[in-house]
Amino acid sequence: GRTDQTTGHEAALGALKQYFGYDSFRPGQSGIVDALLAGRDVLGVMPTGAGKSVCYQIPAMLLPGVTVVVSPLISLMRDQVDGLNDAGIPADFVNTTQSPDEQGMVLSQAARGEVKLLYVAPERLETERFRSFAARTPISLIAVDEAHCVSQWGQDFRSSYLGIGDFIASLPSRPVVGAFTATATERVRRDIVAMLGLRNPAVTVTGFDRENLYFDVIKMETKRKAAWVARYVADHPDESGIVYCSTRKETEALAATLNEAVPALRGAGAGNGPDSGPVAVAYHGGMPAEARGRAQRDFVTDAVPVVVATNAFGMGIDKSNVRYVIHHNMPESIEAYYQEAGRAGRDGLPSRCTLLWNESDIVTRRRLLDSDYENDRLTPEEQEAVRLSKRRLLDGMVGYCRTADCLHMYMTRYFGEETPASARGGDGKCKGGCTNCDSTFETIDVTDVARAISRCVHDVMYDYDDAGRPTRAAVRQGLGSGKIVAILRGSQAQDVLARRLDRCPSYGRLRETPEARVRDILSQMATDGFLVISEGRMPIVGFGRRAAETVAPDFHYEIKRIERKPARGMGAG
Ligand code: ADP
Repeated sequence: GRTDQTTGHEAALGALKQYFGYDSFRPGQSGIVDALLAGRDVLGVMPTGAGKSVCYQIPAMLLPGVTVVVSPLISLMRDQVDGLNDAGIPADFVNTTQSPDEQGMVLSQAARGEVKLLYVAPERLETERFRSFAARTPISLIAVDEAHCVSQWGQDFRSSYLGIGDFIASLPSRPVVGAFTATATERVRRDIVAMLGLRNPAVTVTGFDRENLYFDVIKMETKRKAAWVARYVADHPDESGIVYCSTRKETEALAATLNEAVPALRGAGAGNGPDSGPVAVAYHGGMPAEARGRAQRDFVTDAVPVVVATNAFGMGIDKSNVRYVIHHNMPESIEAYYQEAGRAGRDGLPSRCTLLWNESDIVTRRRLLDSDYENDRLTPEEQEAVRLSKRRLLDGMVGYCRTADCLHMYMTRYFGEETPASARGGDGKCKGGCTNCDSTFETIDVTDVARAISRCVHDVMYDYDDAGRPTRAAVRQGLGSGKIVAILRGSQAQDVLARRLDRCPSYGRLRETPEARVRDILSQMATDGFLVISEGRMPIVGFGRRAAETVAPDFHYEIKRIERKPARGMGAG
């Protein structure tokens, strides 16, 4: 009833204050706590650091019996348990770092009710000893951390997670179950509910917006990127930053460039004399462990302000004063971007996340994703499905680069959170700030170009006789986007002429339009569903679900081009 719930809520606040010293729950936390206390299963979707642990630790203290916390991170269990013990919470763990005797002792204590929170790895649940412990001990709550590991569709599938559902079902009385993850994918969330056997769970998505982060997206030719990064680093001499690159080679090249260019840009007398250390250090998985350790230490202790890294950098690195994260290339998904960019501003102070990208990043990503994916455990059909889902993740990332909407809003919506307070407010700007809210956009009518592109995609399926009449049957499925652009621009390239593509009626139709513009519009049309670019080694441009619109008389197509204002927090130049 109402009174019970109110009392439960007050007890929860009291426990939050008593054990953790906090006066209030963060948005989302209290709903999860209340649901668990009322006996309702929960799926909590929150990013790392948003405060998932409290969501099950508070109920654990208020419910009778033991709470079992299933976590894949054995290496972190001791720290977690020590932290809880310091706060006066009786917690312990059983795992493979202990002798069988130690394990037995902990389990007996838990069975006697002397342990409120018991941390275990999923493998543990399948052991005879743990099953018999569970059969004789009242377990009120099971909290499953990193719950996405149960899904084959996520990045971190662990077969040991598949046993959790069975374990729960085998218990003499069913505890309430809370599953926690940071995963956005709908498919993975559905898997979690199904595989863990959650019953009518309260699903809460929260904490994804980071109000102290300024999001910036800049489209830029590859060859200009290094100079841009050097300028940025030079203009922010007292700040610590991470620059993410997509290859190991790039990290080393860019770190070398920064070390050479940045002192020169800052000039003499800028407080950066010749004997102050290097500006940047490279970090990637191919480096010897010793060098990697040194790079990490130098960065964390502020001996070197900038680390230029692959995505191997960041796991378990705790540095709160990172003032900027620059992505030199577009990552594979919003999830990856959010995680990497989110390493900025952990201390809550204003920080900047900049993504540099261009169309060739998309091409590279597509190619990687199509050639890359092989997994012996999966059938060819399953592999295809995974490839498709990765393709969708990439589309989400491309959408972020292209959107003219608030970037905070794009991000939080992507993760399924309701529009947060920091997204575009009454004044049309977001709280944390983003380049889109700070910019005005010029709208360019590209209807004619879009029509010509669409027409060309059709035309190239046929061959033409000398009078320019199409041969009856289609001779090919289509061509890649490079060829389409070349034909429209009237290219004299060998392979265009050799394949007699100059006889195609679209040949030279867009001679007056800059090549980059044609390429951009084609790519935008694919994003908007007018075209599709097939998967595979040789991607082919075909018609998308909205293709017919391009031949309708009232077809109208615009692109938005950002008009940059001088960015906040950046020096001139
Ligand atoms: P997660 O498990 O989601 O990665 P944690 O539970 O470790 O995150 O919490 C991250 C940090 O936020 C911790 O330092 C925690 O003490 C703090 N925190 C959690 N809840 C609150 C709250 N209601 N108010 C203030 N700080 C909180």
